[in-house]
Amino acid sequence: MAGKTAKKRGKPESVSDRLLAWYDVHARDLPWRVRPKARDKGARADPYCVWLSEIMLQQTTVATVGPYFRDFVSRWPDVESLAAAPRDKVMEAWAGLGYYSRARNLHACAVTVAEEHGGRFPDTEEGLKALPGIGPYTSAAIAAIAFDRKATVVDGNVERVVARLFAIETPLPDAKKEIRPAAETLTPETRPGDFAQAMMDLGATICSPKSPSCNRCPVSDGCLGLEKGIAETLPRRAPKKARPTRRGACFYLRNGKGEVLLRRRPDKGLLGGMMEVPTTEWTQAELDEDALLGAAPVNAKWARVPGLVEHTFTHFHLQLAIFVAEASAAQAKKADGIWVPEEELDTQALPTVMKKAAAHAAPDAGPLFKGK
Ligand code: SF4
Repeated sequence: MAGKTAKKRGKPESVSDRLLAWYDVHARDLPWRVRPKARDKGARADPYCVWLSEIMLQQTTVATVGPYFRDFVSRWPDVESLAAAPRDKVMEAWAGLGYYSRARNLHACAVTVAEEHGGRFPDTEEGLKALPGIGPYTSAAIAAIAFDRKATVVDGNVERVVARLFAIETPLPDAKKEIRPAAETLTPETRPGDFAQAMMDLGATICSPKSPSCNRCPVSDGCLGLEKGIAETLPRRAPKKARPTRRGACFYLRNGKGEVLLRRRPDKGLLGGMMEVPTTEWTQAELDEDALLGAAPVNAKWARVPGLVEHTFTHFHLQLAIFVAEASAAQAKKADGIWVPEEELDTQALPTVMKKAAAHAAPDAGPLFKGK
């Protein structure tokens, strides 16, 4: 369908020409980006910055990523310094960006590039894909943006633009099978990196999800979605499955010295490698206090804090009951984990859900909780 549609629309390459001309003037100013004018003067994208930004941007908005990106490059200006950093420090700097397996893979990837590639990122999609945490999308984005390889980069923004340009009415996720080949017909031989970024910018600034500004669009002439009057309804989506609710408990244990017990989660699985306020398994069973207390880190005098902590992950909603207790010296000795001064909780690599749990347990306890 993509090929047919592209022919009907005339020359697919004309889309790239028009889009690149638009990008030359309107490219967004992003901290990791080399804009066309700077490129003309000889500046080149730094593969480290492109890689770092692409990993951060997965599932996260440009506005959120900006400060994290600046913080990372000021702490670790190149791949070698990031590789040499303790992983805990990297996880700590990442806290709040979510999807923590990305931070673990980020560090593992930096180590691989530093140790096995002499500090230089491979410059092909295949070479990049072999690195930890780099899948088909990210390898294409880095190959195109950092190395100007002809690679088709399809993120959510590009998906929307292409579905509209080609009037692809198949609902997502099935539509992906049509969107990719359609996008490939647009990717130019020259400046594929700028083209990829131009598509992203078009999707982010003009071809927006709810009300595209087609009157300002450089490729409106030939947009089948616009021509058919269905652009705003694209891409279609299959109805979402309802998110299940899981439940569990967190145990906020103090030791009488102003410290709180934290544990490190296993590397594999949700929030892998992050610190946690000791928690139970999260299951779909109704909350049963006796059963939950059976999983407490020590047999102390636990008191339930009224209310629940609620947090929504991609695939499920979580409700946590919160218990607090003071450990005796003997109990504190027995407890498995790390004792952290309560006022330093904000310096720990605590994921958002665990910050919520700690704030619920001790609303006035320290800097972490101010203003919550
Ligand atoms: S004409 Fe409108 S719908 Fe089509 S690509 Fe441009 S902004 Fe998007």
